[in-house]
Amino acid sequence: MDIIRQVNEMMRWVREQRASGEEIGVVPTMGYLHEGHLSLCRLSSADGGRTVVTVFVNPTQFGAGEDLARYPRDEERDLKMLRELGISAVFLPTPEEMYPPDYVTYVETGGPSQGWCGATRPTHFRGVTTVISQMFHILQPNRAYFGQKDAQQVAVLKQMVRDLKFPIQVIVGEIVREPDGLAMSSRNTYLTAEDRKAALVLFRALQLGRDLYKQGEHSGERLTKAMLRVTAAEPHVRPDYIGVVNRRCFRAVEEVSPEDLLIGAIYVGSCRLIDNLDVSPQVYPLRD
Ligand code: AMP
Repeated sequence: MDIIRQVNEMMRWVREQRASGEEIGVVPTMGYLHEGHLSLCRLSSADGGRTVVTVFVNPTQFGAGEDLARYPRDEERDLKMLRELGISAVFLPTPEEMYPPDYVTYVETGGPSQGWCGATRPTHFRGVTTVISQMFHILQPNRAYFGQKDAQQVAVLKQMVRDLKFPIQVIVGEIVREPDGLAMSSRNTYLTAEDRKAALVLFRALQLGRDLYKQGEHSGERLTKAMLRVTAAEPHVRPDYIGVVNRRCFRAVEEVSPEDLLIGAIYVGSCRLIDNLDVSPQVYPLRD
């Protein structure tokens, strides 16, 4: 497994692979890897060619006062996990490599980046689209793999890829959950035992939304209210948002249809967690 830290070295590696006819799949991450990340790596490996995993805690997607400084990091552990998976290369640039002191260029999408996480974290998606654009230019991948866990990020990145004509197939991996249903996240390490129990309320609220839809409740507003009642009953958490949206444009829907998404974000302890659930499972293909 090649471990590469410099942009020009990474570009040279990509040129060599391309010259020998290899296709490239990229799995962008912020490290502190868990089964969610590894599932994306396995999807890429199964598609063949070379898989490059990027490990970069991207400063521009954190707002002032967010958890950039304390975001969990363990490079040794990440590299060990990736070696065991047979990954071709890992790209670990420094912040200075990606954003030299004179860096001034940002990529901003409208549409799906508005509202929800975009409302609570106004500069977040601009940081994501900027760093992913850089990664796409450096790595020239045929395929890029993202997790459905970050559903709004998926909508934003698909929009960016369409609008900016990146010749890249975006492939989405299903949410990987702990046995009790909590969506895996590097940020789960912030949770105390009490927080950890309380955090499950988000998944329970989303599941209730799905159950009510199945029973015939198709009003987005009423489903949202019912899900909010579940989170309100857990005193240890504070909802950021709960809603039902169209998965492509991320606008709230009045009349819910099976391909829509139930979404939520909560504050628990010192942590903000997000999750989502398909209104109707297995309706929407993850590879389009
Ligand atoms: P992160 O390191 O949190 O930026 O995540 C890197 C990639 O892994 C993103 O595409 C995430 O959506 C994806 N990811 C994170 N958690 C999960 C999960 N529980 N299941 C599936 N994918 C995930």
